Amino acid sequence: MRTANVNGRLTIVPAAIATIVDGAVVHGVDVERASAGRFGSDPQAIFAEWDAFSGWAQDVSLSEADVVIRPDDLGPVAPCPAQVFAIGLNYAEHAAEANLAIPSFPPTFTKFPTCLAGPSTSVPLPQGSVDWEVELVVVIGRRARLVDRDGAWLHVAGVAVGQDISERELQMIGTAPQFSLAKSFPCFGPIGPALVTIDELADPDDLAIGCSIDGETVQSARTSMMVFDVPALIVHLSSVLTLLPGDVIFTGTPSGVGMGRNPKRFLQPGEVIESEIEGIGRLRNLTTG
Ligand code: ZN
Repeated sequence: MRTANVNGRLTIVPAAIATIVDGAVVHGVDVERASAGRFGSDPQAIFAEWDAFSGWAQDVSLSEADVVIRPDDLGPVAPCPAQVFAIGLNYAEHAAEANLAIPSFPPTFTKFPTCLAGPSTSVPLPQGSVDWEVELVVVIGRRARLVDRDGAWLHVAGVAVGQDISERELQMIGTAPQFSLAKSFPCFGPIGPALVTIDELADPDDLAIGCSIDGETVQSARTSMMVFDVPALIVHLSSVLTLLPGDVIFTGTPSGVGMGRNPKRFLQPGEVIESEIEGIGRLRNLTTG
C-alpha cells in the first residue's frame, strides 16, 4: 500500500506515484471520503491508528480513485512528526570520504520538523555551502520501546525517499558541531513521494539508492551497505527512548556528497537534485537563490 499527503489530505495512491515528479498526473483515493469519516484526513494523525487503517486500506480499490494529483500537490508523507532522528556516517564509504572512522555506535542528531518538505518542493539555498544526502526514510507505525531485532520492522508504517540537505559551514562551526541546525533550514528535508509499506518491497534491507545533480549521478549505492541497518537503528533508538507512531528516521547517506569531493562541490541556485530509491520512487527538488 502507498499513501501520500495530497494538499494536506491523506490519500491512497497507485504505484505510478513513484515517478510523479516527472510530471505525470496520478489519481488517488481520499481516505476520509472513502472511509465515510472512519479515518480522518490528517496525514500525520493516521499513524496513531496505523494498524486499523492499514487493515482497512487493504480492501480499498484504486479503481475508485477520485483525486487528481499533480507533483506540486504533494507534501511530506509525515508533515509534523513528534520526533525526527537522523543518523550520521552509516555507510562505510561515506565515513571514509569524511575522513572519519566507521562508528561503533550510530551518531544521532535531529532535523527539526519545520524543515520537512514535499517531493517536488523548491529548496531556497542559504548563504554558505549546501550539500546533498539521499537517504532511506523510515516512518514509525507502532510505539516502540526496548524492541528486539526480530520485531523491529513490525514497528515501521512504511518507508520513503529523503534528502538530508545540509549547510556545511554551520554544520562544522565552532567547537561543538551544529548538525541539527545546519540540516534544518526551510525545505532541507524533502520526503516522499509516497509512504510505501514494507510488503511492497522485495527486500526492504537491500534497495538501490542514488542521487543526481542536474542529471549527473553523484551517489549510487544499496541500502544493504548500511553500517547499522534499519532493525539495528530501531533496536538502538528504542533502547534509549520511546519511538512514537509518526516519528521519522533519516537512516544516513552513502558516499558521493559534495563535501567529500576534491575539489568540494556545493549546490548552486537553479540546480536540480534528484533522489531515488528502488521500489519507492523519486524526488525532484529545484534549488533557488
Ligand atoms: Zn544525513
